[in-house]
Amino acid sequence: MKELLERNKGLHRTVMIVDDEFIEREILGAMLSDQYAVNYAENGAVALDCLRKNKPLPSLVILDLHMPELDGYSLLKLIRADSELRRIPVIVLTAEKGSEVECLQLGAADFISKPYEAPEIILARVSHSIELAENSVIIHETERDELTGLFNKEFFFEYGKRLDLQNHNMPMDAAVVDINRFHIVNELYGKAYGDLILKRIGNSIHSFVQRTGGLACRAGSNTFYIYIPHDTGLNDQIPEFLSEIEESIDDPKITLRIGLYSDDGSGLDMERRFDRSGLACRKLRNSYSTCFEFYNAELHSKELHAERLINDMDRAIAEKQFKVYYQPKYCITGEKPVLTSAEALVRWLHPEFGMISPGEFISIFEKNGLIQKLDRFVWNEAAAQIRRFKDEFGVYIPISVNVSRVDIFNPLLAEILIDISKTNGIPTEKLLLEITESAYTDNAEQIIDTVHSLRDKGFRIEMDDFGSGYSSLNMLTSLPIDALKLDRAFTCNICSDSKASRLVGIMIEISRLIEVPVIAEGVETKDQMELLKELGCDIIQGYYFSRPLPSDDYEDLVKTELKENRYAYN
Ligand code: C2E
Ligand code: CA
Ligand code: CA
Repeated sequence: MKELLERNKGLHRTVMIVDDEFIEREILGAMLSDQYAVNYAENGAVALDCLRKNKPLPSLVILDLHMPELDGYSLLKLIRADSELRRIPVIVLTAEKGSEVECLQLGAADFISKPYEAPEIILARVSHSIELAENSVIIHETERDELTGLFNKEFFFEYGKRLDLQNHNMPMDAAVVDINRFHIVNELYGKAYGDLILKRIGNSIHSFVQRTGGLACRAGSNTFYIYIPHDTGLNDQIPEFLSEIEESIDDPKITLRIGLYSDDGSGLDMERRFDRSGLACRKLRNSYSTCFEFYNAELHSKELHAERLINDMDRAIAEKQFKVYYQPKYCITGEKPVLTSAEALVRWLHPEFGMISPGEFISIFEKNGLIQKLDRFVWNEAAAQIRRFKDEFGVYIPISVNVSRVDIFNPLLAEILIDISKTNGIPTEKLLLEITESAYTDNAEQIIDTVHSLRDKGFRIEMDDFGSGYSSLNMLTSLPIDALKLDRAFTCNICSDSKASRLVGIMIEISRLIEVPVIAEGVETKDQMELLKELGCDIIQGYYFSRPLPSDDYEDLVKTELKENRYAYN
């Protein structure tokens, strides 16, 4: 059976013969009918109607040029312009010389001249054209994104680089188009609607690059890349391009952000151009309306600086350029403030840039995961410090360390922390873990699991930057935490702004509800301290008591406080 199918493979394909003369149709049909199923149409209009209505499409159309109603030239034009039909190869029947060139230009695959050649020759032409077309469909499909019909990312870069090579030095612009909050569109309106939007955007990008002579691809689920010659480029056309896309989306809820890299003659390779337009695009991440941003000198120098810091990181760890400072926390519930713990805060003593504050490098290291390495270093230093005090002064004075949101995703987090405690010979409950509130709201389930398991091992958890991350009250009561650390933004103006102090009062109420102490940080003045005390705040950290101190200075401070009997921890 299989053999039979193989031999008669041609039977599975259909050829449509379009000719107004009955005899001609019959002669040609008889030649082909051994190998193909044959359909007939007596003029262009009938053929077009049939092609549009009947599926599956024929594998080939044989087309007479001179017919009533709709002639061969017109039908050929219509087929080539139709996104679905244009994949069908068309062989043209010609009686006169001279029509060939015009048909070739219109996209004919081959010719059969009248009167007909030997049937073998005609069959060979037909099967050759079908084979060529089918192969190109296969190529087309592997190169394309199924949904939008644009290139996929891999082929996009391949063709783009080829284009660069062939057109040496031709300046090219790169654009990244992203949909704002697309996951919400999918969630609220369903995947089918999301797909429709992607198709519409794909279509208008497609017609844009057809006009400008560029390339486009769907680079990620809701990201498109456009690579176009600088001369015809986006610089001047952005407003038109945007309104064109918006029109095709036809839904004001959906907004885009576009990052652009405009060729400045620096000869970057294609990937780097898209890195840059991507950077410009990411800068717009939180926008609610459609907008665009050019990659510029400021972004460039920021990027270079970030890259430099990333490159220097390993060496900095090896050479101990990172310094851990300690900022004491004082308990103010008693008659006089007493030292209760400290927060470990990292600084980078860079050989070229001098002292760099964490505000400058933490977010960079969070983006690429390097933060895990740095945090591990800091945790180790802090644990070693706790151990040294125990050896010197006979007491464990707890230290809190910052745990980045990135660390939470490391399944080995608890093991790493236990290992650090063991190696340094300290009980796990002396290492306090500060986790920022927004990490809780970003990925509630994951973090709650992780924090539960950390607490089971004895670690205590302080929720950092409380008030900035929009936890719900309901969520708070079920969260495994041991202290709330108010965001600095709330304490800085409590003395001048009665609303701010009322808010702090409410947050302290919440802490009572969930029965954990409250820590206020960023306390700089006596007035702030006294007001916080009045409001019921338990612990205070800030310049009022001390700036973050290098290890030696912190040690001196601890020595003094112990001597003066100003240390307590419970
Ligand atoms: P954070 O955890 O909220 O740390 C408190 C920040 O407030 C510290 O800034 C501290 O120096 C500063 N500060 C303390 N008291 C006062 C005050 O009275 N007035 C003012 N104006 N500021 C005060 P720093 O050291 O620059 O750290 C910034 C942020 O970097 C930290 O915010 C933390 O999120 C992050 N960070 C610091 N060290 C590490 C670390 O080792 N690992 C991780 N993952 N993040 C860290
Ligand atoms: Ca902190
Ligand atoms: Ca904080």
